[in-house]
Amino acid sequence: MAGRTREQRLIEDDRRYLWHPFTQMAEWAREEPLVVERAEGCHLIDIRGRRYLDGVSSLWVNLHGHRHPRLDRALRTQLDRVAHSTLLGLSHPPAIELARALVRLAPRGLTRCFFSDNGSTAVEVALKMAFQYWQHRRAPRRRRFVAFSDAYHGDTLGAVSVGGISLFHQVYSPLLFDVLRVPGPYCYRCPLKLSYPGCGMACLELVEETLRRHRQEVAGLILEPLVQGAGGMLVQPPGYLRAVRDLCTKYGILLIADEVAVGFGRTGKMFACEHEGVTPDLLCLAKGITGGYLPLAATLTTEAVYEAFLGPYPQLRTFFHGHSYTGNPLACAVALANLEIFRHERVLQRVQSRIAAWSAGLDGFRELAHVGEVRQRGLIAGIELVRDRESREPYPLEAQVGIRVARVAREGRVILRPLGNVIVLMPPLAISPRQLTTLLRVSREAIRRVTEEDAGWLPGDGPVSASPHEMRGRSPRTGSHSPLRPRTRRR
Ligand SMILES: *Cc1c(COP(=O)(O)O)cnc(C)c1O
Repeated sequence: MAGRTREQRLIEDDRRYLWHPFTQMAEWAREEPLVVERAEGCHLIDIRGRRYLDGVSSLWVNLHGHRHPRLDRALRTQLDRVAHSTLLGLSHPPAIELARALVRLAPRGLTRCFFSDNGSTAVEVALKMAFQYWQHRRAPRRRRFVAFSDAYHGDTLGAVSVGGISLFHQVYSPLLFDVLRVPGPYCYRCPLKLSYPGCGMACLELVEETLRRHRQEVAGLILEPLVQGAGGMLVQPPGYLRAVRDLCTKYGILLIADEVAVGFGRTGKMFACEHEGVTPDLLCLAKGITGGYLPLAATLTTEAVYEAFLGPYPQLRTFFHGHSYTGNPLACAVALANLEIFRHERVLQRVQSRIAAWSAGLDGFRELAHVGEVRQRGLIAGIELVRDRESREPYPLEAQVGIRVARVAREGRVILRPLGNVIVLMPPLAISPRQLTTLLRVSREAIRRVTEEDAGWLPGDGPVSASPHEMRGRSPRTGSHSPLRPRTRRR
């Protein structure tokens, strides 16, 4: 078609050829997509040259900002050597060096590192390892897994089986293996209708009950330490992780810690398990492992698990798992540079003051009429919006309250990606104090506007689904004093 600008062509072709993940494509087509062309530090820049603050670290992966010189350099240097060579039957320096570095950094006792490509496969690897471990240990009945409600471990079928978010996973249930489900610590909506701290973490008694009753059949228990991410940034009470570790030890069950979201500094320590002095039997890492540059994952385990897989080949103790791009050299080289940045820039020390400012800034959200709970751990935050604060009545799904907040925040040049009614804020660790202020200001104002001013869209209260264009048309509220209007661009 003649006369189309490059931007128009890209947008049309996006609608025509792409199928976006976790996206209702019928709705996608109605809105103009934001097409990111470049990035700098904590900003994404679209094809029209507009700059947006990356408020969710490009879906929880970015740590040190985009185009960090050290990461860029590591990638280019490795590119001059080899882009890819396999770990099946061969080895290469970046994988060797990264495995060593991760083992040295990980909680004590984790001594072996198995690479894969993403968080879901890191979880698949852990599940298969745990299962096969017991086969080799002559406890073949131990083949079930214990997992929590609201857990999220990825989108491949094993990971979905242990996942506990019915909204995403219900439709696949006929394909999944059976899991022993225990109530997770969603204290704001306690499954036991108790309240913390008076409850004394009574939910753990149910976990123990399950472990005790099924100890002969359980291979492992999987959890997201400190924060259940995709379940809504559900923050666990202090001591919870430690208590789960102790229960697993007591009943001889392997503990699988899924640190795909919380690893690499997000909680203020390198790994979330460190907060409670816990060593899991298997540790799943991905997302931040390359600083948000390339797909890579690792499953770390103990010498005890590893040794169960040793033996003469015909005994078939081999771990039969591997992907074409397992331990890709480019990704490993960037991951090594990521760890160097942590050391070199003293990231974990520097992030502490950022976290303090963050907690203080988040307090401002608690005053909003429709904020039910503000949950925070390190630089992770989840703000749960409710239709009624008193009764904690949630907004109905069709209100799309989170999506609306993200849409308004985008007008203020901040990128957010909500989880249902929970607004997620997860900036890169490198976010500057000023950018942090902007992120808090714009998201708070977006929440206020959607929940307090634009409430007419609520089902039953007004037009059920105004299209984004109508929305935009009837809410020209970005006045000259609007906190949503981006400040004059710096730099
Ligand atoms: C994102 C995530 C996964 C899945 O990782 P992918 O790289 O998206 O496959 C697994 N577990 C947790 C806790 C996650 O947040």
